[in-house]
Amino acid sequence: MGDTFRALVIEDHDGKQKAVFKDLTVADLPDEDVLVEISYSTLNYKDGLAVSGKGIARRLPMVGGVDLAGTVLESTSSDFKPGDKVIVNGYGLSELHWGGYSQKQKLKSEWPIKLPDAFTMQEAMAIGTAGYTSMLCVLALEKAGVTPDKGDILVTGAAGGVGSVAIALLSKLGYRVIASSGREETHDYLKKLGAAEVISREETMGKGRPFDKERWAGAIDCVGSSILAAVIAQINYGGAVAACGLAGGNDLPTSVLPFILRGVSLLGVDSVMAPREKREEAWARLAKDLDKSLFEDMIRVEPMSNLPTLAGDILKGQVKGRVVIDVNA
Ligand code: NDP
Repeated sequence: MGDTFRALVIEDHDGKQKAVFKDLTVADLPDEDVLVEISYSTLNYKDGLAVSGKGIARRLPMVGGVDLAGTVLESTSSDFKPGDKVIVNGYGLSELHWGGYSQKQKLKSEWPIKLPDAFTMQEAMAIGTAGYTSMLCVLALEKAGVTPDKGDILVTGAAGGVGSVAIALLSKLGYRVIASSGREETHDYLKKLGAAEVISREETMGKGRPFDKERWAGAIDCVGSSILAAVIAQINYGGAVAACGLAGGNDLPTSVLPFILRGVSLLGVDSVMAPREKREEAWARLAKDLDKSLFEDMIRVEPMSNLPTLAGDILKGQVKGRVVIDVNA
């Protein structure tokens, strides 16, 4: 038996998934080629689902945590050496592969990228999958030709992790950003991040028609369902929506009218299996375009022991900005 370390393990308890803290040894970890000592992980919506036992883990037992930042202890791959600081976002961590809610983890060498020089490990996890997904959405809008001169950009689910970073990025890039949030108490926070205006979910719905008055040059949608349908219906001629989330539901009650009469584009954004070049492009742009002075308002650091409570909070839409998980606290 080697030294033990702490991990949050999702197990089968009478046919239901349940997350429990356990002491593991390196011998318990998966047989992968890079052993990492983890410093920080994060809390994403998907982590909320996994830790609450809502069926995200596709094999059990499973260590939760979609993201991690740490230092390589051992590597049989020539891509990494002991002492390298690395980050991992997605790749099925906490679904198919053991993730970041652990003080140590073994990983496939294809998954980590080197920690960008611009960020500490804590900052990289403050960004995490949520922030890196925001950047993927911004890149998708840019590639669709949605430039700041085209008009206002809407961000839905604005006070959440993806939304918060999206607002900060877009406003720094010169876009006029309108934040859509269901929580009135977040309005000052959203304006501090760079939102020119904040509107309620009801205002976002407009008339709720499948083809509505033009309002937005582009949008980043974290919510899905009827909100995404309303947003698509309000996109200006030739505009685009980057859709990444389902916080309001995974259905999409829309019609083809905005697509065939206004040439609107619906851009699907996936962070989990995004290829390495896309990840590196997104992280390089985060290093250039994210104003780190906003982190103070956007992040809070919590010990791993608080995860069961935090998981419930994020599913209830009660988490503001980004939560960094200190796995050693
Ligand atoms: P958060 O929980 O931090 O944010 C989601 C926000 O959506 C909430 O803060 C809230 O914003 C709003 N919201 C919550 N419930 C509802 C509801 N019922 N109706 C309307 N709005 C609601 O999650 P993240 O920011 O981490 O993730 C956002 C979404 O993006 C999630 O669905 C997540 O699964 C998805 N995601 C997808 C990725 C991908 O690769 N495609 C990667 C990362 C995340 P407010 O209070 O301001 O209204």
